[in-house]
Amino acid sequence: MQSGTIFDIREFTVHDGPGIRTTVFLKGCPLRCSWCQNPEGMSPIPEIMENPSGKRIVGKLYTSEQLSSILNRQASILSDNGGGVTFSGGEPLAQAAFLAEVMDSLGNLHVLLDTSGYAPESDFRRVVQRCDLVYFDLKLMDRKAHIRHTGVDNSPILRNLSVLASMDIPFVIRVPLIPGVTDTDENLAAIAKGVNRLSGLIRVDLLPYNRAAGGKYSALRKQFCPTYDERRPVHVDLDVFETAGVKVRVAGTVQK
Ligand code: SF4
Repeated sequence: MQSGTIFDIREFTVHDGPGIRTTVFLKGCPLRCSWCQNPEGMSPIPEIMENPSGKRIVGKLYTSEQLSSILNRQASILSDNGGGVTFSGGEPLAQAAFLAEVMDSLGNLHVLLDTSGYAPESDFRRVVQRCDLVYFDLKLMDRKAHIRHTGVDNSPILRNLSVLASMDIPFVIRVPLIPGVTDTDENLAAIAKGVNRLSGLIRVDLLPYNRAAGGKYSALRKQFCPTYDERRPVHVDLDVFETAGVKVRVAGTVQK
């Protein structure tokens, strides 16, 4: 049986997909987005967080059976409210074998995967085929800028996006609006052009920048080092999506 490391399970969430949901945050992420709001989700192993109210360990090991039984106990209340379970992180696909096993043990629950798309294609297919809906994050279309701001090449992400469009699973593209980085006309137009013909696309969600993004870093004894000027106002030109025929909205967010 597979085990996985979880850093939070939030019940009764209303911004992490349709209806009322339970959101499971899997620990570990191969990206290093300089704006990440969940730095405790980056490392795959448990860590100590220390704040004025005391110390706590973030990250707990669960077997797939333990996690699925917690979620199955909530199934009727979640389903009755048009909701289900959202798997977020960190990057959930970094624990693909565990996640697939958890999903296989779920009863009649709507399953949503919130992913950066950065994973081997085999892991991506293995998990996504078990999902009802995917939230797929797109940050930067320019490869060099993507490496600079997230630490990784976007080629595997764009490849998995094409795979997703071939899988007959509905999906939402989510773009975090980072001032002067992802919110430029050039980047947003490239995203609109890159997604407008993809089969299964429901819409693009633009996620407002959270100016408290750096708050948790000191509790982990890490430094928040944004690769951009936080004081710069976010600029959004929705016309680029309308021109490309893509439905867009400014949305609430899974806090990452
Ligand atoms: S923002 Fe998401 S993809 Fe980026 S480092 Fe944080 S958890 Fe990973």
